[in-house]
Amino acid sequence: MSTNIRVRFAPSPTGFLHIGGLRAVLFDYLIAKTLGGKLILRIEDTDKKRQVAGAVEGLINILDWVGIKFDEGPHLGGEFGPYIQSERKEIYKEHAEALLKKSGAYRCFCSEDRLKKMREERQAEKLPPRYDRVCRNLSEQDIIEKLAKNEPFVIRQKIPESGEIIAHDELRGGIKFAVQDLDDQVLIKTDGLPTYQFANVVDDHLMKISHVLRGDEWIPSFPKNILLYQGFNWEPPKFIHLTLTLNKEGSKLSKRQGDIAVEDFRAKGYLPEPLLNFCVLQGWHPSASDKAPKEKTDEILSLDQMVEYFDFKDMGTSPAIFDVAKLDYFNGFYIREMSLEKLTKLCLPFLGENLKLTADSKKQELDYIQKVIGLEQERLKKLAEIGELTAFMFADDLQYESKLLIWKKITPEQIKINLQTVFELLEKISEAEWNKKNIEEVIMGYIKTQKFKVGDYLWPMRVALTGREASPGPFEVAEVLGAAECLKRINQAIKKL
Ligand code: GLU
Repeated sequence: MSTNIRVRFAPSPTGFLHIGGLRAVLFDYLIAKTLGGKLILRIEDTDKKRQVAGAVEGLINILDWVGIKFDEGPHLGGEFGPYIQSERKEIYKEHAEALLKKSGAYRCFCSEDRLKKMREERQAEKLPPRYDRVCRNLSEQDIIEKLAKNEPFVIRQKIPESGEIIAHDELRGGIKFAVQDLDDQVLIKTDGLPTYQFANVVDDHLMKISHVLRGDEWIPSFPKNILLYQGFNWEPPKFIHLTLTLNKEGSKLSKRQGDIAVEDFRAKGYLPEPLLNFCVLQGWHPSASDKAPKEKTDEILSLDQMVEYFDFKDMGTSPAIFDVAKLDYFNGFYIREMSLEKLTKLCLPFLGENLKLTADSKKQELDYIQKVIGLEQERLKKLAEIGELTAFMFADDLQYESKLLIWKKITPEQIKINLQTVFELLEKISEAEWNKKNIEEVIMGYIKTQKFKVGDYLWPMRVALTGREASPGPFEVAEVLGAAECLKRINQAIKKL
């Protein structure tokens, strides 16, 4: 492990892990792993207004569920702690003092009222929306007096008057900014807590972070970060700005338009592997990699394969589009690939309501449940759908309308006769021979001797067994239900006609 490669994930504990956050932590992980370095979790909780109780534990839990392992963090410790910003207040204070001494920052005593008025005036004059730098020119004497009077103040960054700054992004190259457009941003607020802009730079430096991967919404303030590094005389880390994830309509993903929290995806029965597989393609593609085998044309990638093929230099800079249909496709793929034992275990929490439907204890046994899940494994896209898809396999009394039994133009009388025939045929199969193959042979063998078509028997048989317009095929359902239950259901259907 290379000790000088250190990558951090720095979420704010605002209540849930956004799917965009999962994408960021995955890329952090991949950068750390491919370069043989460490992954660090740092909680950025200096904005007290945005905090939610229990959010840190929630974040750690969900990251653990996803399978992203950290080397250092609030839950693991490490030599660069504390890893929660609110526990580092003194560190920021010391560094702010140091910056004041180096003339890289100054105290600003302007009141909220004055700032508001100033903003309105600047707006009226069509000047850029930034602080007018009044407190930059306070004399030493003014400052001493104001401090003696306990006047509240913030500490602002002293941006040079003019010139140009080139901030280097690993994917975009040098980005040029005119210094005169930059605001003397607040570094320490009146409550003594740092802003993101200050804490982030101080922590990345003190925690010896080598690569900073973050959203491209931070590009406008990027030059100010670089100026801070210069003010402290620190070497900046390498920066990689991730493009936003947009929805299909091209706007920012927001809670209003549906689920964006990883917890929501988990609750619906998405699995960690497809979520990660989906996220990695939002900003990188194996086709860009020299390391990925050329014959690999599908986009299915395990975490290990990602580590094998990934290189952050191959990441793209165009916005990623969040296409849930693709996520569903991946989820379905991983569900199909999984062993039935594992799938059953994962589905159990989603079956609770179904198990209540039945008084029949056989239907509550694991063996039966596993066979039921096996019926749906091919089709299942999200685990949470399993309850609805399989409810008919647990019901003691199927509810459906008799007209559902009717196939095309066949009369109810004829359907009844066909079902009676099916009943008699099935009745002859012994318990030991009750399996899909035999059931199919018996029923299909009979149908071939008749003038009727396959659907004239199989449609009512399938509806009788499932009560559904769409379901797995009648033979596989019959095998799992078992002889007694099948005959009971067919009998009930006959009585409906
Ligand atoms: N706390 C910041 C956020 O959640 C972190 C950004 C960064 O990685 O620098 O957006």
